[in-house]
Amino acid sequence: MLNELKEDLVGIDIRFDEPLKNYTFTKVGGPADYLAFPRNRYELSRIVKFANKKNIPWLVLGNASNLIVRDGGIRGFVILFDKLNSVAINGYTIEAEAGANLIETTKVARFHSLTGFEFAAGIPGSIGGAVFMNAGAYGGEIAHILVSTQVLTPKGDIKTIEAHDMRFGYRRSILQETGDVVISAKFALKPGDYDQIKNEMTRLNHLRALKQPLEYPSCGSVFKRPLGHFAGQLIMEANLKGHRIGGVEVSTKHAGFMVNVAGGTAKDYEDLIADVITKVQANSGVRLEPEVRIIGEHLT
Ligand code: FAD
Repeated sequence: MLNELKEDLVGIDIRFDEPLKNYTFTKVGGPADYLAFPRNRYELSRIVKFANKKNIPWLVLGNASNLIVRDGGIRGFVILFDKLNSVAINGYTIEAEAGANLIETTKVARFHSLTGFEFAAGIPGSIGGAVFMNAGAYGGEIAHILVSTQVLTPKGDIKTIEAHDMRFGYRRSILQETGDVVISAKFALKPGDYDQIKNEMTRLNHLRALKQPLEYPSCGSVFKRPLGHFAGQLIMEANLKGHRIGGVEVSTKHAGFMVNVAGGTAKDYEDLIADVITKVQANSGVRLEPEVRIIGEHLT
């Protein structure tokens, strides 16, 4: 099979048995059997068609800033869009490929004095991951500015989904049900004032740096916001700030984050998440639900 893969996918950047901890924000995660970096849609469709033909599982990751890859890694193909990352401006519209960095895209908007993207100035995801998750902060979210997105269906066809068909909710989109993969997305912005946009982005990033442990590897907010509460507050009230399992601890700066302070593993993350859920429920009666996605296999 390996020979067939190498023949059929010749010319495509594919790394074998590649440790994913080198690519994740948490710095944990075992190997991907085949880590692929398509340079264009043609290469992407070749990978997906080959995988489907051979019944090899495949999945797409963005910047891996909102997930934990287990220590046993991921079987089959993991596709990264790092090389599909162009950003184009057309009037007041920005069209970005899925692998474009979200923060860099907000800087392109700023450069062209376009307003509407400031909320995302500090969210460390990719465009694809942000659309999939309906990323948001400080009152803004992807749903407010998305016009449409081009996706690759699980069968390998390309289609366009209009924003009103995306069923956006809090950190939710229809893509989480369909398995469609974002290839590119179009955003409608408005003409604005360069200095005002810049000041707003600086203000939001300052707030973020004050509150979030950006100096350590993490996966952002670990838990969804429970109705009527804040996850970080409940964790703090359960006296769990600084609580550590292995190399991973509840951030002392923001209890909603878990930081990898000492070469932690995915198992440390999972054990800590389970422990925090149990202890917060015992203390407050509220059961926290993870926002972070946990994927891959346990180490055997
Ligand atoms: P990944 O983590 O790589 O993937 C997340 C999910 O998206 C996975 O299921 C993956 O399969 C899927 N996915 C990725 N790319 C695609 C694609 N092209 N098509 C279809 N599915 C895809 N989030 C917020 O919303 N607001 C915040 O303020 C915020 N602050 C953060 C701060 C820190 C320090 C960190 C580490 C994270 C923060 N996050 C925040 C979480 C994260 O940055 C966002 O959820 C982001 O949108 C995830 O994008 P990603 O590319 O990293 O996705």
